[in-house]
Parts: sequence; C-alpha cells; structure tokens
Amino acid sequence: MKRDKGYKCSFCGRNKEETMILIAGLEGHICENCVAQAQQIIDEELYQQDQKFQFSLAKSIKPKDIFSFLNQYVIGQDDAKKFLAVAVYNHYKRLNQKHDDDVEIEKSNIVMVGQTGTGKTLLARTIARFLNVPFTIVDATVFTEAGYVGEDVESILSRLLQVCNYDVKLAEKGIIYIDEIDKVARKSDNPSITRDVSGEGVQQSLLKLLEGSDVQVPPQGGRKHPEQKMVKINTQNILFLCGGAFDGIERIIGKRMNQQAIGFKSREKDKEVVDRDNLLQYISPADLKTFGLIPELIGRLPVLVHLDPLDQATLRAILTEPKNALIKQYQKLFKLEGIELEFADDALDFIVTKADEFKLGARGLRSICEAIMTDAMFDMPSQEGLRHFIVTEEYCKEKLRHEIMNKLKVA
Ligand code: ADP
Repeated sequence: MKRDKGYKCSFCGRNKEETMILIAGLEGHICENCVAQAQQIIDEELYQQDQKFQFSLAKSIKPKDIFSFLNQYVIGQDDAKKFLAVAVYNHYKRLNQKHDDDVEIEKSNIVMVGQTGTGKTLLARTIARFLNVPFTIVDATVFTEAGYVGEDVESILSRLLQVCNYDVKLAEKGIIYIDEIDKVARKSDNPSITRDVSGEGVQQSLLKLLEGSDVQVPPQGGRKHPEQKMVKINTQNILFLCGGAFDGIERIIGKRMNQQAIGFKSREKDKEVVDRDNLLQYISPADLKTFGLIPELIGRLPVLVHLDPLDQATLRAILTEPKNALIKQYQKLFKLEGIELEFADDALDFIVTKADEFKLGARGLRSICEAIMTDAMFDMPSQEGLRHFIVTEEYCKEKLRHEIMNKLKVA
C-alpha cells in the first residue's frame, strides 16, 4: 500500500489520487487525461498525413493524364475533355494552395452544354472515378426555393454525404453533377407577381452552395425527418459540374453572332469559317444569360464547355471502342454462356444509322441493341452445343421489325 502512494502519471506527473484511472506500463504509468490527449494528437497527425497524401496525389497527376484516362471511356468531345482536365487539375491544386500571399485561386465549377446523350454525365462520372472522390448526380428539376413544395437544394449535399457514408471530411472534397441545369432557367424576362420558385428561386439558392460556404445539411435529406440533427458541410472544396441540353440555345448563339458580324463589319473570309451545323462550339456566357440563367450563377460557373453532336462515325466508335463499350458488354455476357458473339460490319452500320435517326445521341444505341439482342439472350442459354453466334444486318432488321410490331400490338 505504501508503494501505491508513489505511483504517478509519467506524462503529466499527477499522483494516483488525483486521477480516475492510472494505467500501468512496463516502465511507467499514464492517466486517463493523458490518454485522451494522446488520442487527439494521433487523430490530428493522421489527418495531416491524409492531407499530405492528397497533395502528393494532385502533384503526380497532370492534365494530360486526366485527358488520356477520359479517352478510354469517352469518344470524341476533345474540347470538353481538355477543359475538364485543366479545370479539375486546377481545382485539386487549389485544394493544396498555401495562403501565403493575396492571390487566391478561385473555384473552377464547370457548366457543360450539349444535346442529350452526348456524354455529359459520362464525363462527370469518369472524372470522379479517376480521382477516386465521392460523386453524386442530382437532377435540378426536383428542386424548389426553400419553403415550397419540392426538395431544398441543401439535399444535394445530403446525397453526397450518403455516398461517402456520412464522412464529412470526404464529402467536402467530392464532386457533384447537377443535371438539367437548363430547366431552372428563368421562366421569362419580366419579373412577374408570381414567384418563380422552381426557376430563378432555385438558381438563387444554388449560389450559396456553389461559391463555397458552410451549409447546414439534413443528413437524411428532405423534410421527412424533421427531428434529425443538421450536419455542417463546407462547400469550399466541392467541385460542381452542371450539365444541360439548353434546347434552342443555338438560335440565341446564331442571333448573337449575326449581330456581332454586323457590328464588326466582318470580312467575307470570317463568315466562311463559321460552322453552322455546330453552333454550340461558339457558346459564350452571354448566351446562357439570354437563355435564362442569372448572371450571379453564371459567374460561379466560370468554365463553360460545349459537347459536339455525335455523328455516325462517332456513334460507331462509341459502340465498339470504349473500355466498356456496348458490344464488348454483350460479348462478355455471351462468353459467360460459352458462346462467342460476333457483330458483322453491316450490322454495326445498321445500328448506328437507326440511332442517328432516333436523335437520342448515344443513348439510342442501347435501346436499339437491347431490342435486337433480347431474343438471342433469351434463347441462347438453353441451346446446347452452340459455340458461335453472328449478328448480321438481316438479323437486326428482323428483330427491330418484330419489336415495332409488338409495340403496335400493345398500342
Ligand atoms: P448526357 O449528355 O445526356 O448526360 P450521357 O453521358 O448520360 O448523356 O450518355 C448516355 C450514354 O451514352 C452513356 O452511358 C454512354 O454509354 C453513351 N455515350 C454518350 N456519349 C458518349 C461518348 N462521347 N463516348 C462514349 N459513350 C458515350
């Protein structure tokens, strides 16, 4: 007992009587306070190391690496890929900037403009996969201004939180893709008596999120759980990518270019250069404003990227070339049944021509292929001894005809 009195914490020096718990080691002791403090030091140190890891990650990746990674999955759209690669590279450099002078690199949120099915979502998804950061896709059409029926924009962050298992630190470095941003365009130029709660109201609410601030987020999202405790998320380092088809914006671009041409007395030579079939490539922030985005929102989306419409050659490449190209997916499915699947050249041409007719971009390819391949996928597994199957143009035509007839019957 006498010797007990001599025990003290080897870290803070408190006597045993002054502590609640004194843990004995080989050579000394430690009290509960010092254990707690040590844990805090460990946590901070690990966090610092984590930050350093992020830094080395960003250092070793160059825009060209991002570009070539995108190339494996996305066909064409070189302009968009280049802009995205640079914007994302700068974003991650920005995360590691030292605040030792007055120059602060600002966030490079991105807005992508391109017809449906040209690869906007695919680009965003592929970038997130490359960076291995949490990623979520939200649809701008479901949001309304706070207080109105519909979701508040804060629930965008709830989705990101859910994706990374409620790890706030991780979520704060994520990427969010807001689809159909064109649908929250201001409904008309005249300020009306009725509030535009799903258009301009949403744009106003998005500003706070995009520029980077502390936002109180309901972790479960929505208003179904009014009792939930809010979580604070800082959006300073979250990269926002927005995408939309902006139907009819070509007319706005064309009009602006015509006016400019008159204003600047353009020479005949310049006129020839304008590619009338793809006016999107000349898009400027002014066109987004005319379309109905408010200037404050456009200002917070400084990188404006266009996607080209897909021509037949690109559609064909999309069918066969990307790492997880549709044709490769079917071949893999058949291989699992022990069958080698082959597509004849004329069959591929036929699928591409049909997709082009449907004007659904690359999205049309999938529905056409499904219509053609469903019967085969239904029958093949029960056909013993079949080792090889060739899809020809004839076969495609017949299956599509069947599909159309079936639909007519239903109708
Ligand atoms: P959207 O522009 O409407 O967001 P998506 O990115 O969702 O279009 O494209 C729909 C599908 O079409 C994708 O899943 C992808 O398989 C295919 N796709 C579209 N564009 C491309 C492209 N440029 N390269 C490869 N696949 C593409």
